[in-house]
Amino acid sequence: MAIREIVKYGNPRLVAKNHTVDLFDDPALAALLQDLKETCWAAPGVGLAAPQVGVNLRVAIVDLSVGKDPSQVLVLVNPVVVDAQGLIRDEEGCLSFPDMVETVERPEKVTVEALDERGKKRTLDGRDLLARAFCHEIDHLDQRLFVDRLSSLKKGLVLRQVIKRQKKGTW
Ligand code: ZN
Repeated sequence: MAIREIVKYGNPRLVAKNHTVDLFDDPALAALLQDLKETCWAAPGVGLAAPQVGVNLRVAIVDLSVGKDPSQVLVLVNPVVVDAQGLIRDEEGCLSFPDMVETVERPEKVTVEALDERGKKRTLDGRDLLARAFCHEIDHLDQRLFVDRLSSLKKGLVLRQVIKRQKKGTW
């Protein structure tokens, strides 16, 4: 297994269409999930979506313990948000936007339906940070980045910083 390179904003893979997984008990899927976990823990981060390692599949992981508690690792294959309640504004970052944090509005509580690596359907409830992580990762699978949740003014400011760092070669 391996730590993969996390692609940054500007890489076309980050906004390419992500395909539904239809093959389970598959060594390639198992390897992808293991690499997503290891890459996320090493970053470190609380979640990582497959397009962030350049793989355009509807696969992500969330782990609020960042590798410390195996029972908290959640595998999301073909996930969908089926219910959302409340709204909270809080700080949020993205491993594809290193060292940037912005205030983003997200549901306070969500219910997600997803498959596990064997194709078994699971219903997952999350609130606060877990709800935020689910929404952030599922957004990635829908080709939506956290900056797309900002006002156009704020998004413009963030993207200007990115361009500056790209020009300096620090992106
Ligand atoms: Zn992200």
